[in-house]
Amino acid sequence: MQKPRDLLRKARTKGNQNLDQYFLMDEEIIDRIQEYALEFDCSHILEIGAGIGNLTSKLMEISKVVIAIEIDPFLVDFLSSEFKEEISRNKLHLIQGDILEAQLPPYTVSVSNLPYELSSKILFKLIPNKTPLVLMVQNEFAQRLVAKHNTPEYGRLTITAGHYGDIEIMEIIPPSAFNVRPAVESAIIKLTPSEPNYVVESEAIFLQLVTAVFTQRRKKMVNALKNTTHISHIKDPNRIIELADEGIMNSRPGELTPANFAKLSNIISNSTDN
Ligand code: SAM
Repeated sequence: MQKPRDLLRKARTKGNQNLDQYFLMDEEIIDRIQEYALEFDCSHILEIGAGIGNLTSKLMEISKVVIAIEIDPFLVDFLSSEFKEEISRNKLHLIQGDILEAQLPPYTVSVSNLPYELSSKILFKLIPNKTPLVLMVQNEFAQRLVAKHNTPEYGRLTITAGHYGDIEIMEIIPPSAFNVRPAVESAIIKLTPSEPNYVVESEAIFLQLVTAVFTQRRKKMVNALKNTTHISHIKDPNRIIELADEGIMNSRPGELTPANFAKLSNIISNSTDN
């Protein structure tokens, strides 16, 4: 493995903070990310935001191929020359582009130190693929992912991500692990795909319902449902309110469990004119 400090020196970059370029320098943490990833099938690893190749170089040790996407053309040029040999033997497939626009080739796991600004959008793009994830994210974001109902952190992100897998915070990472140091703490999370402990008849209706009512998280469900039909596409909210459990309708979105939302979304799916 190439040392992160050597790669940073060779790349001659100060890091562009507009692109969230906070490079991970701590080799022990990079080793542990590799260990977390090894729990899964690492044959085809997707790395989002390869940066200076510090994590990429470690991921190549455990995979058949690393598919690395990086938006910054300056860093892509650097990676292309630094890892010329790995690219020529198809060990590294380097893509210059925006992860949010890119058509992703098949991969078995994504292991990435994400650009924090885009964490939600990237996660919502990755989770429907039902692959494992080992991701460095902002700690505050990680806390939202693992939140329990009746806490301020619980919301759309918690329920949507939890619908696709079990999420665990592996460790909290201080700013000192990076160059440049971010202003916030980070966390490494692991998502293991799993089936939820409830049944939904329509995933789309379940996810739309959750998205809709959490835009009105201070309202009781009875009002949140009526006020957000432009998002949930429920045609007759009064009919759903009649059919639904009164306790659920009198609660606020943040007080309901994912299973409560599943029950309600099944009522919506089964109502002929939903
Ligand atoms: N992998 C390196 C590491 O672990 O230190 C860099 C991680 S740094 C936190 C995030 C990386 O994502 C940066 O290299 C940045 O240029 C890249 N990036 C930012 N926005 C991106 C996007 N939309 N698509 C792909 N890469 C992006």
